[in-house]
Amino acid sequence: MLLDIAKLSVSYGKAVALEDVTMRVGEGEFVAVLGPNGAGKSTLLKAVSRAQPSVGHLMFRGESLHKYAAHEVVGKGICHCPEGRRLFPELTVLKNLMLGAYLRRDKDGIEKDLDFVYSLFPILKERTHQIVSTLSGGQQQMVAIGRALMGKPSLLLLDEPSVGIAHRLKMEIFDAIKRIQRGGTAILMAEQDAQSALRIADRVYVLEHGHIGREGTSAELASDDYIRQAYLGVA
Ligand code: ATP
Repeated sequence: MLLDIAKLSVSYGKAVALEDVTMRVGEGEFVAVLGPNGAGKSTLLKAVSRAQPSVGHLMFRGESLHKYAAHEVVGKGICHCPEGRRLFPELTVLKNLMLGAYLRRDKDGIEKDLDFVYSLFPILKERTHQIVSTLSGGQQQMVAIGRALMGKPSLLLLDEPSVGIAHRLKMEIFDAIKRIQRGGTAILMAEQDAQSALRIADRVYVLEHGHIGREGTSAELASDDYIRQAYLGVA
């Protein structure tokens, strides 16, 4: 098992944001976490990337992540594409992408991964020397995903990659994420767009009020009455 989480809890002061969460992500698997605003999706991803302290079982490739700080987790093969993107708006596309590779010394591998990012998002190659703040929201999201990929993750954490993005670019981004998985990278994606998540993920967990409510393969959840009513708007 690549990522193995059991009884994981996170509190912000007295407020419990995640309670006894148990979930797994296999090697090369695409897992989505669905849930409404405030359910704890971002908190879960932050716990995995160690941006947020947590208690419980948090294992990556059989090793506890609790002993690592956030900056060390990247070197373990976990890259986090956070909510709000956190790009450097006054730097170029290329500089932002290369910041994702800051720990790496394999020049040829870096070049190869940059080519892969450009093949996923050809517009970024055209705009490589453009300042990021001049790009559209969707294009900035592409840079944020590309930057995380430049860290050569074996597990890519994506926090609501489609939020606030026009429909056409959103589809392009989801298709690119599927291609990233086909390249062998496991994905753990928080998402509110249930329809898209169920279309592209292998398995899905539904997080509600800090608890896992339902879980299953995408096909199972797409035919679950509760999910259809609460998340897919099917009466
Ligand atoms: P969203 O889609 O709105 O980001 P989410 O499912 O990602 O929602 P979280 O952001 O993980 O949810 O928030 C879970 C709960 O923890 C919410 O009740 C939120 O108000 C609370 N919370 C999140 N961050 C903090 C913080 N830094 N301090 C205090 N409470 C927080």
